[in-house]
Amino acid sequence: MTPLVDVRGLNVVFHKKGTFARARTVQAVKDVSFHIEQGETLGLVGESGSGKSTTGRAVLKLVPYASGQVSVAGHNLTALSGEALRKVRRDMQMVFQDPYSSLDPSATVAASVSEPLLVHDGLSGPRARARVVELLELVGLAAHHADRYPYEFSGGQRQRIAIARALALNPKFIVCDEAVSALDVSTQNQVINLLEGLRAEFKLSYLFIAHDLAVVRHISDRVAVMYLGHIVEDGPAERIYNQPAHPYTQALLSAIPDASPYRERRERILLAGEAPDPASPPPGCPLQTRCPYVMDVCRQAMPEPTPVHGGGQVACHLQTSGPTLSGAPLAAPAVKS
Ligand code: SF4
Repeated sequence: MTPLVDVRGLNVVFHKKGTFARARTVQAVKDVSFHIEQGETLGLVGESGSGKSTTGRAVLKLVPYASGQVSVAGHNLTALSGEALRKVRRDMQMVFQDPYSSLDPSATVAASVSEPLLVHDGLSGPRARARVVELLELVGLAAHHADRYPYEFSGGQRQRIAIARALALNPKFIVCDEAVSALDVSTQNQVINLLEGLRAEFKLSYLFIAHDLAVVRHISDRVAVMYLGHIVEDGPAERIYNQPAHPYTQALLSAIPDASPYRERRERILLAGEAPDPASPPPGCPLQTRCPYVMDVCRQAMPEPTPVHGGGQVACHLQTSGPTLSGAPLAAPAVKS
């Protein structure tokens, strides 16, 4: 079966003006491939600047990509532009970190939520109003909220309104870009539960982008970890959390505070050093300047993705040249916090 979202060899390049007007070319996304089945959630995690948000935007063709193939719900986006692309956009939506970026602060909730209905379906008047009320109720709000303005709501409620707007056209795929990152933990859980419920009800597929592995844990079926534009590891969420194979994934996981008294505390792995300049990365592994396990081969050759026991792949020379095997957590030289 063809997956709902199929991304192959995606590359995104930005050309920026540097100091003294010298042009800088930054490859923000490098040879990224993944797929998402219908009703499935792929968590995409990495630090700020890892390329995860650019990947999400490129998949929706909101930023141009230099090369690669993207297909969503049977549409080959690579070949589409103009009116043809606009028509298939109804199948794919985005929810942003800051609902103010998608909600006009001077427009009522009804106006914001009904805008896609008007633009795509020409729907207005009582029929549009009825659909707005239906959508608000779907996300746990009430009909009387329709005539209020975004500033009258809490951050969590505003994110619910943004989700209602994203659902207006019955999409099949939603990119949630740091959609809960600005919320407190209890509101995060409520919004994640809402997204989970909607996924089950409408068989939605999500690309759930976050910088924090703890946030994506409960919503993701599979997780992909990005560093400096590359996917360095992917796999089933359970395997990633219990047996991370890549030193970068291990470092991200070791930074999560574990409140449970019944679990052994993870050893803290600190990544020292600086990330390389993305405009002139060194040859070899992108993590080489910060990795505590770096070897000579890491500075010479880019590690190829290798299957990991338990599912998924990891791009690290330790899998083929080092002391670790199949996703077992590394011990030394971890640094205790
Ligand atoms: Fe570290 Fe080398 Fe693996 Fe890169 S390939 S993560 S530098 S051990």
